[in-house]
Amino acid sequence: MKVLEEKKDSIFRILSEAISEGIIIVNESQVIVTSNEAADRMFGYKQGELLGENLNVLIPMGYHSEHTERANEYLKKNDPRQMGHGRDLYARKKDGSIFPVEAGLNPFLINEMRYVMALVTDISVRKSHEIQIVELNNQLEQKIQRRTAALQKSVSELEAEVGRRVEAEHKISESLRKERELGELKTKFLSLVSHEFKTPLSGILTSAVLVSKYTESEQQDKRDKHIKTIKSKVNYLNNILNDFLSIERLESGRVTFKLETFPLSKVINEVIYNANMLLKDGQRITYPKNIDDIFLNFDEKILELSLTNLINNAVKYSSEFSVIDVEVEQFENELAIKISDQGIGIPEKDQKFIFNRYFRAENALLNQGTGIGLNIVKSYLKSLGGKITFKSEENKGSVFTIFIPKENKDI
Ligand code: ADP
Repeated sequence: MKVLEEKKDSIFRILSEAISEGIIIVNESQVIVTSNEAADRMFGYKQGELLGENLNVLIPMGYHSEHTERANEYLKKNDPRQMGHGRDLYARKKDGSIFPVEAGLNPFLINEMRYVMALVTDISVRKSHEIQIVELNNQLEQKIQRRTAALQKSVSELEAEVGRRVEAEHKISESLRKERELGELKTKFLSLVSHEFKTPLSGILTSAVLVSKYTESEQQDKRDKHIKTIKSKVNYLNNILNDFLSIERLESGRVTFKLETFPLSKVINEVIYNANMLLKDGQRITYPKNIDDIFLNFDEKILELSLTNLINNAVKYSSEFSVIDVEVEQFENELAIKISDQGIGIPEKDQKFIFNRYFRAENALLNQGTGIGLNIVKSYLKSLGGKITFKSEENKGSVFTIFIPKENKDI
């Protein structure tokens, strides 16, 4: 029997020494009864040194009580299992250093005595590889985050750049459009000048030549007649030039308005005085009544330009011995100035185009004109919070009304 026991013992020894894992066998009281060479080496003990020691010497200090509890429970259940899976398991070497392990527990009975055999593997190398992998993953993630942030920055920089370019292109095409329009305007101006200026200029020349011929002092009335013609034609040419300058300013965005307070009668008098020089035989302009107390806060030059355009049109497009009526009507928030004539009127079909630049109605083509005046008046008045409307019937006459706002503080 004893021989058999010894034989068994040495077979166990041979087997256990051949195994690379550490083998520790503890009894019910968790006292180590056997350890193989691999276990001794792993834990830093000499052969046989562990025998009789409590298992706790192999367990890090902090884990002792927890371990004892678990071990007791485990011994009751009596089934094999793997320790350390799912959570980190650590063991303690003789020199006190701690290292990660994996342990498989196998309970068994000999002579009615319970034992547990633990197969222990040092997983320091594997663990350090795992840590390295986690670290590398972290580094990689950080790198990706940095790269993504850099990429996002470049993308938003690129977007901003694209935005700036689009804006710049927009500005360029806008200024090209303006340039083109101004170019067209200049071309138009040259062709208009060559047509529209020829007749009045030759009229001026003729009158000037004739004036110089009336040398006798009693020929004053003849001289006056020609001087009047000269004045009126110069006035006419001046108006065309002013209209063109207005368009040029409107187009290039260089219009500046000047609001000031002035008596309405001052502007009306000036405009009618100048228009009187253009009157045809028997034509007359009636002054508006009761305007002496009216003061406006508006751009005086714009009002003068607008009224000049409307009154000159009324004179131009109506016949001799007709009356041009100027009336002023006051409303709560605005003032209306109405210019009525008994002239050729505007054909129904042309009425909707009348404020288009360069548009001239069919029945107006025999008269001199550029088709600019009404367009400018409308633009100017709109910019200043005013407006222009008209009513007209062919061969009966037209009524043009401009509305000036009474409060005009925020322009
Ligand atoms: P222009 O008189 O130089 O042609 P306007 O812009 O002042 O240019 O007027 C545009 C057109 O409107 C005129 O050509 C004419 O057909 C029409 N029009 C303007 N005022 C009158 C009016 N009082 N009576 C008839 N037609 C008018």
